[in-house]
Amino acid sequence: MLSLDDALQRLVAGSRALALTQTETLSTFEAHGRVLAQDVLSVLDVPPADNTSMDGYALRAADVPAAGTVLAVSQRIPAGVVGAPLVAGTAARVFTGAQVPPGADAVVMQEQCEAMAGEGAGGNDGKGGAGLGNVRVLAVPTAGQWVRRRGEDVRAGAVALTRGSRLTPQALGLAASVGAGTLRVLRRPRVAVFSTGDELVMPGEPLRPGAIYNRTRFTLRGLLQAAGCEVRDFGIVPDRLEATREALRAAAAGCDLIVTSGGVSVGEEDHLRPAVMAEGRLENWQVAMKPGKPLAFGAVRRGNGSNGANGAAGSAAGEAANEALFVGLPGNPVSSFVTFVLCVSTVLRAIQGLPTALPRPLPLKAAFDWPRPDKRREFLRVRLNAQGEVELFDNQSSGVLTSAVWADGLVDNPASQAITRGDTVRYLPLSELVAR
Ligand code: AMP
Ligand code: MG
Repeated sequence: MLSLDDALQRLVAGSRALALTQTETLSTFEAHGRVLAQDVLSVLDVPPADNTSMDGYALRAADVPAAGTVLAVSQRIPAGVVGAPLVAGTAARVFTGAQVPPGADAVVMQEQCEAMAGEGAGGNDGKGGAGLGNVRVLAVPTAGQWVRRRGEDVRAGAVALTRGSRLTPQALGLAASVGAGTLRVLRRPRVAVFSTGDELVMPGEPLRPGAIYNRTRFTLRGLLQAAGCEVRDFGIVPDRLEATREALRAAAAGCDLIVTSGGVSVGEEDHLRPAVMAEGRLENWQVAMKPGKPLAFGAVRRGNGSNGANGAAGSAAGEAANEALFVGLPGNPVSSFVTFVLCVSTVLRAIQGLPTALPRPLPLKAAFDWPRPDKRREFLRVRLNAQGEVELFDNQSSGVLTSAVWADGLVDNPASQAITRGDTVRYLPLSELVAR
């Protein structure tokens, strides 16, 4: 039986030939979650000029040697307006986001100022032109205060976002900051999914005796969508060898990866292993982990050299592969969930050129005992408590999906290691594992 680390290594190695190279150019509006296929360079400084982060007065710090200094207000600069160079010994009324005029080196927030009517002026009525009055500055400023420096976020010529990184909402904002209205991204991974099991019925249909509702279909679809995949759902495949082979062929034709649930054990009703062996190659079918021991992977041939996943046009070296990757997950819903977030996510990252290491576990204190560990590496469904310790869901059966809904993380527990309350355990947040 392979260790999980070895299995992950082999999955990554096996994914190389399927690395995506096709790209598309999208509006930055549509690019959330995609992987950048270009560096995003900035042609401008961001911000493009020194500007104020406060409503107040822009001035030269040296002009206010003591609290109470009074300066004439020589101009008014709202955001979006370019001011004139600051006349020495005066202040400019400024509003958040407005450019700080040349000559000013500090902003005093309006809460530390007193607007005063000037001699013969109409007072600080904010109407601009004459009559801006005076301002009494109540605190001694230091040079640079409340000034956002030109280029402090991104310098002209710098790489704002690097090729191969995932476009998070923050990254989209940064792309927009440098004026990128479109982005070149990798095409989405195309993933086929099907469930096996004659006992499965879809919700909405009556549950005949002996049947259960198909749950993994929903979880796997959701996980694939969250990972930014184009999902091709082949539904429920009956527990028959020929039907399974047929489904694999159909799935391989148009997809980079086939993900299935159930039927990967060695029972008479488990047909995936022989079906994959007949339609491609099976590399492995057992991994030393709990939940998730029956976990098959390999590849399925694409019929007649036709390159369905990538189309005729633009198929670059990596995309000329005449196989689709295959990962067969166990049928139990917790097992398929856990093996997806550990293994399928790793494959998806590998084909998109993203780093494949699992998230770094956080060392946290266990608020539970786990006296009878398994001989396999275990992934326990846990949740943080108010003390920042880790609580265990009381039923760790791989059929109890409630545990995975309740949990906010998994404890990655080494093989045969008992846990006593207060021990440090390795906590993996689900927020990092899902949509990795
Ligand atoms: P299998 O891997 O096919 O032997 O299935 C293992 C267990 O998971 C059995 O109890 C199945 O009934 C159950 N199971 C398999 N597929 C699903 C599914 N899609 N939804 C819910 N339970 C499933
Ligand atoms: Mg089955």
